Amino acid sequence: MSYRPRYDNYIGGDYVPPANGQYFQNPSPVTGQVFTEIARGTAPDVDRAVEAGWKAFGAWGKTSVAERAVILNKIADRMEANLELLAVAETWENGKPVRETLAADIPLAIDHFRYFAGCIRAQEGGISELDHDTVAYHFHEPLGVVGQIIPWNFPILMATWKLAPALAAGNCVVLKPAEQTPASIHVWLDLIKDLLPAGVLNIVNGFGIEAGAPLASHPKIRKIAFTGETTTGRLIMQYASENLIPVTLELGGKSPNVFFADVADEKDSFYDKALEGFTFFALNQGEVCTCPSRALVQRSIYDGFVADGLDRVAKVKQGNPLDVSTMIGAQASNDQLEKILSYMDIGKQEGAKLLTGGERADLGGELSGGYYVQPTVFEGRNDMRIFQEEIFGPVLALTSFNDYDDAISLANDTLYGLGAGVWSRSGSQLYRAGRAIQAGRVWSNTYHQYPAHAAFGGYKQSGIGRENHRMMLDHYQQTKNLLVSYADGPMGFF
Ligand code: NAD
Repeated sequence: MSYRPRYDNYIGGDYVPPANGQYFQNPSPVTGQVFTEIARGTAPDVDRAVEAGWKAFGAWGKTSVAERAVILNKIADRMEANLELLAVAETWENGKPVRETLAADIPLAIDHFRYFAGCIRAQEGGISELDHDTVAYHFHEPLGVVGQIIPWNFPILMATWKLAPALAAGNCVVLKPAEQTPASIHVWLDLIKDLLPAGVLNIVNGFGIEAGAPLASHPKIRKIAFTGETTTGRLIMQYASENLIPVTLELGGKSPNVFFADVADEKDSFYDKALEGFTFFALNQGEVCTCPSRALVQRSIYDGFVADGLDRVAKVKQGNPLDVSTMIGAQASNDQLEKILSYMDIGKQEGAKLLTGGERADLGGELSGGYYVQPTVFEGRNDMRIFQEEIFGPVLALTSFNDYDDAISLANDTLYGLGAGVWSRSGSQLYRAGRAIQAGRVWSNTYHQYPAHAAFGGYKQSGIGRENHRMMLDHYQQTKNLLVSYADGPMGFF
């Protein structure tokens, strides 16, 4: 494996030991064995990183958009040349199948840098002619040093979603990776760090309370961007309110996947695609904020469609994540494994009917210490906890609906509003449902696609702000207006 035995914090262009001298151990979910140790960052490390960011900002904030675009493109090229290394590193640390990291996670991250390299060059300011001699100029200016806190489910991609627009816009960054998956970000960093001036990107490892909270509440950061749980998002807003800085939050979800009766009009390739859509709750072991964790199936097709869906779930191959034929790997951490198993118990206790799965999976051999869970489907009611609370595992909560209105009301009946899927052969039904469902992203006849140029973010308690799409640059820039009079005469008020 491509990991070093120890990773320090990365501050001001150097690897720096943590101020308290402490490290924590990082196990691979594939086997449960520790493979590296990580600096346990705290407030003094955050202070140092923010200071390094401001030192670098003086020059970086004035680079031309062309210079920054070239750097972002070079980062993308390096990543592409090392695709397999990055994919394997991420799989080993997170437990997700390498077929996903090779085909999706890392290529999407690469494309993200290229997309924002293009966006920043295409961005235009604005000139308003107020009268013949008076002009308002508008400039996009970077914010300064920004803080970013990310989760463990797509380590390199989540870092990229935040870093690419922030750097493109001319900011310096202090990034805190999730404590479960910091090392893959350092593998990435080692590949690209010579491309960025010292201090432009700083990484402080550590736990949420010890490193994340001092970052989010730091008086010298100009923005905090956070991805993680809704409960943590509330804290981040509180910290940020002390310094009145802008916040973007990408939070949890309980996304509905709605199958209208006409998907079963014929048993053709579209029907097959819908069955794959039903099975997408298991993608990335269900550790996706938009996991389609609630399937709503129209009653008139329920029995047949669900039977075919369960056949499809039975064909999901679970195994060693490093094997390219594996479709579902290990949960990212032992805590996550235990959380999912506890929800299996909750589902059984609240009377949901277990249709498949429901247990930890023991894959034997060296994998027996890994964190594997069987893909699981429960049938129940939308008011049950397994329908309302984010499990973040390969657990599907399934129920039926009568008609269109019933489907929309069930789909909207959670605190969340991140993602949703609708499946139908009728374009107008897809459109109506897509507009009626309260979620920031509604996939129609597809799911789990994350292109850089489609806006992503939450309604309701799933978040504030958007990621991806050039509109993301608005979160990392402020507008400077210069209002200039070219007239020589007096203004005439005094
Ligand atoms: P989490 O909130 O526990 O942790 C996320 C990050 O926040 C970690 O880096 C953690 O160290 C840090 N953190 C924790 N407590 C903190 C505190 N008090 N102050 C500052 N930082 C703190 O979430 P998680 O369990 O790591 O990630 C899973 C969650 O992320 C799920 O709820 C999932 O839906 C969400 N998620 C959302 C999106 C999205 O785009 N909406 C994407 C991926 C994951």
